[in-house]
Amino acid sequence: MRNRGTIGGSLANNDPAACYPAAALASGATIVTNAREIKADDYFDGLFTTALEEGEIVTQVRLPVPEVANYQKFVQPASRFALVGVFVAKYADGVRVAVTGASEDGVFRWSEAEAALSANFSGDALEGLSVDADGMMADIHGSKAYRAHLIGVLTKRAVAAAA
Ligand SMILES: Cc1cc2nc3c(=O)[nH]c(=O)nc-3n(C[C@H](O)[C@H](O)[C@H](O)COP(=O)(O)OP(=O)(O)OC[C@H]3O[C@@H](n4cnc5c(N)ncnc54)[C@H](O)[C@@H]3O)c2cc1C
Repeated sequence: MRNRGTIGGSLANNDPAACYPAAALASGATIVTNAREIKADDYFDGLFTTALEEGEIVTQVRLPVPEVANYQKFVQPASRFALVGVFVAKYADGVRVAVTGASEDGVFRWSEAEAALSANFSGDALEGLSVDADGMMADIHGSKAYRAHLIGVLTKRAVAAAA
């Protein structure tokens, strides 16, 4: 399934636990369709929802090349989807952090971590930062608090791996 799935299909589907949306959002990608170009910041619109209009087809995805980047995924053991996934990308003008698998609103940018890491790209910069468990998803695999905690852990791991 993973080998046959396409990046366009994944971004169009916008599954809340999919990996590609985190990569696209953290990279500041541009999603190109048969009708227009959409910035990743304007593209993801909640669970399984995007800015795509009826009949609009993703034809290209442009991903700016970061100085360093890393994706850390805590796998849901049955499906191997992301229970939580964090993509960190460092560019000359700042760091972007996108989280998948966690929020009831789908993939999102963790702006507090971005500000801290843009000033100091090290795990130490994340000390004391946390994501509010309200608004996180909960299921048999993980509670809201568990997912919120994982975001901090995986972001630190991503920074360590990238650095
Ligand atoms: C067991 C399992 C494990 C998986 N694990 C992961 C995982 O770990 N991480 C992960 O990210 N994903 C995972 N997936 C999801 C898999 O990656 C997706 O099925 C795939 O990315 C979807 O791409 P597709 O090309 O198959 O799209 P399809 O399933 O064919 O299409 C999905 C939707 O998007 C629409 N669509 C397809 N292509 C386009 C396009 N170019 N433009 C506009 N609309 C389009 C279709 O009409 C449909 O509505 C898993 C799936 C399964 C079944």
